[in-house]
Amino acid sequence: MKLAKRLQSLTPSSTLAITAKANELKAKGIQVIGLGAGEPDFNTPKHIIDAAYEAMLSGKTKYTPSGGLVELKEAIIDKFKKDQNLSYDLSEIIVTSGAKHALYTLFQVLLNEGDEVIIPIPYWVSYPEQVKLAGGVPVYIETTEKDEFKITPEQLLKKITPKTKAIVLNSPNNPTGVIYRKEELEEIGKICIEHDLIIVSDEIYEKLVYGDEQHISIASLGEAFQKQTIIINGVSKSHSMTGWRIGYAAGNQQIIKQMTALASHSTSNPTTPSQYAAIAAYKGSQQPVEEMRLEFEKRLNLAMEKLIEIPGFSIIKPHGAFYLFPNVKEAAERCGFESVDDFAKSLLDKAQVAVIPGSGFGSPDHIRLSYATSPELIEEAIERIGKFVHDHW
Ligand code: PLP
Repeated sequence: MKLAKRLQSLTPSSTLAITAKANELKAKGIQVIGLGAGEPDFNTPKHIIDAAYEAMLSGKTKYTPSGGLVELKEAIIDKFKKDQNLSYDLSEIIVTSGAKHALYTLFQVLLNEGDEVIIPIPYWVSYPEQVKLAGGVPVYIETTEKDEFKITPEQLLKKITPKTKAIVLNSPNNPTGVIYRKEELEEIGKICIEHDLIIVSDEIYEKLVYGDEQHISIASLGEAFQKQTIIINGVSKSHSMTGWRIGYAAGNQQIIKQMTALASHSTSNPTTPSQYAAIAAYKGSQQPVEEMRLEFEKRLNLAMEKLIEIPGFSIIKPHGAFYLFPNVKEAAERCGFESVDDFAKSLLDKAQVAVIPGSGFGSPDHIRLSYATSPELIEEAIERIGKFVHDHW
């Protein structure tokens, strides 16, 4: 059967293959420890669940406006004001079915065939695929641990062509956990303003920041920066609400209007009870958010301490999100593997630890480990990895 050409170059999510294998082993009763999770392991705070339940009981089970409930948009606007001192109008916000769908819709609205979008490597797996699906061309900027996985103004300038439409910034970053500082954002932002590049600022991990670091939105650096930026965010990671599917985009009115028009023909609206849950998430106590952050920070420190002891692993300490992204090239080579992908496959087979190979994020020398699991399992998993390396060295 002849299927659409549009999907022929689509790469399925790289995380799925290893997760499928891990599940297969688990089904056979093998004690696999999964460090692949891209979501918090806590349940959604109870007051949020209660709000959704009460909304449903009171009949809030029908369609809403395509761009989301006004009450939720107002809660999002209040949050921007409180957290970043950013002002938005209702017409500058769209609520979507998760942050992923906000990004998907945005690229559909922004890109014409052949338009280029700059994406730093390592990248979250969906950016290049979503750009390609919209007819765009991903243009990569390679970063490594030497420059803390951050792009430099020089690198950016070299990649800009007359076809460049946008750049994706993701801070705190998945998979590296790296956070851009104010001066770095200022330098990048100024170039984008000068060349009229739209800054797609994915801030989904904004609440998961550790140590002395601080999340700064590039849009908050001044009016010109805000005008140039579309912020992508949501409640998935901050409030442990991945399954509720509520995200949003904030920025240029014309772009938001078109995104809303597209949503009206694709999703109709984000799930109604979930929108009421998100209102409670933003209007209610933020104490659970802080408690989860503190727990993640403890786990990060525990995992770092153990991980740096493994020979052939090198890692810079992340300051955000819930991932570790060690370079394991040396360990893989010394253990006789041809690639880090093979190393990760064998780790699952022989040590029953599931990690995500960095190749899916454009960084084939790394693996991504998520610490969104219990401290006991983190410790046990890293011990198993250490033993595996030791036995094969
Ligand atoms: N952006 C990044 C960097 C992510 O890691 C994720 C989820 O893994 C998303 C966006 C999507 O979030 P959501 O679950 O709200 O669609």
